[in-house]
Amino acid sequence: MLYRTVPKTGDKLSVLGFGYMRLPQKKSGGIDEERAIRQLRYAIDNGVNYVDTAPAYHFGKSEKVLARALADGYREKVRIATKLPPWSVHSRDDMDRILSSQLATLHTSHIDYYLLHSLSKVTWEKMKNLGVREFLDSAKKDSRINNAGFSFHGDTATFKEIIDSYDWEFCQIQYNYLDEHIQAGTEGLSYAAGKQLGVMIMEPLRGGNLAGPVPDEIKRIWDESSVKRSPAEWAFRWVWNHPEVTVVLSGMNDEIHIDENLRIAQDAIPNSLSPAELDSIARVRDMFQQRMKVGCSGCGYCMPCPAGVDIPGCFSLYNAHHLFPQDRSAKFQYLGRHGGLLSPVSYAGLCRQCGKCVKSCPQHLSIPDHLQDVSTDMEGMMGVIVPLLKGGLWCMNQIGRIGQIFAFNK
Ligand code: SF4
Ligand code: SF4
Repeated sequence: MLYRTVPKTGDKLSVLGFGYMRLPQKKSGGIDEERAIRQLRYAIDNGVNYVDTAPAYHFGKSEKVLARALADGYREKVRIATKLPPWSVHSRDDMDRILSSQLATLHTSHIDYYLLHSLSKVTWEKMKNLGVREFLDSAKKDSRINNAGFSFHGDTATFKEIIDSYDWEFCQIQYNYLDEHIQAGTEGLSYAAGKQLGVMIMEPLRGGNLAGPVPDEIKRIWDESSVKRSPAEWAFRWVWNHPEVTVVLSGMNDEIHIDENLRIAQDAIPNSLSPAELDSIARVRDMFQQRMKVGCSGCGYCMPCPAGVDIPGCFSLYNAHHLFPQDRSAKFQYLGRHGGLLSPVSYAGLCRQCGKCVKSCPQHLSIPDHLQDVSTDMEGMMGVIVPLLKGGLWCMNQIGRIGQIFAFNK
């Protein structure tokens, strides 16, 4: 295993991090806990020292399984990263309450890497107003957490603004060869690294789509290369080629993939891809981009929208939906991020056609027209599904509160 250093702290982390968000399932349903525990311990035995979870993964069960996996001396071998869900925070007290509950669930005295989960401009404002910076300072001071960071799916301008608003140690961004100029992108990666932050990467395979069956014209480009790699290996190597990247997270739940990722990680040397290899990747990227519906680069210059639409966010998931039609997850992500489930509503259908955004778009996109298409395609059942999911989330929060009261009274 290769290791990279978080510039600000000197902490040495394995280039491959274990994402504990897609745990193996039993045929009869539910998490196959024994297998999930075996898999993580195997990865740790082979050098992985960073594992990323969140209360939102597997409806709160991921942290519980992780606690079991890290018994028997494994806790000391690994850094735990977990997250504070802004959608469950309504007061400063909630932050302490949720962190206490996580420490109890994880059977640990401290969280090594603590993130604010999926910040956006709106949720960051909300969290700031509720005192999250003071909370993070105090949690670091009394060693409940060691490092503070945030995960992010918004536009580059907002990303930089958040980076500059607190003394973070790290951040977590979506990054892969298709998202070079989408969300935080390469510009955001360099910005964060320039501030000495560790940068953890999520979605290196874009939800597995860059590793799955690819269209014939893309397969031909890979086949023509003198270097033979699987599509997954091309995608991982491209991310690790960037020296600014610290850890690449992979949500592994199959022993074959774990072995393959451990092998690929042995070659995760920065700036090691040749010009010819980079050219093959660029050609594949171009081919994918030709299939995109909206040529939005995610720069964020059109923001903010007076009606509250997250313009680049809506376009990004609309494109993902059409790039990989076999993958249904883009619609669910759209509901979560823009339908008001995990953050305030920001969906395309809110557009009032005022035209303000059009003047600022360097790509000269007809934004309101494209947003109408997005709304038609992505928002079909939103009015029914979002209230149902919100009700589910509310119930989970209440169960969490009751569970904590019991834990304190024990
Ligand atoms: S045209 Fe629509 S998306 Fe653009 S600024 Fe106006 S309301 Fe927002
Ligand atoms: S719609 Fe235009 S201005 Fe807005 S993020 Fe996309 S490319 Fe940038």
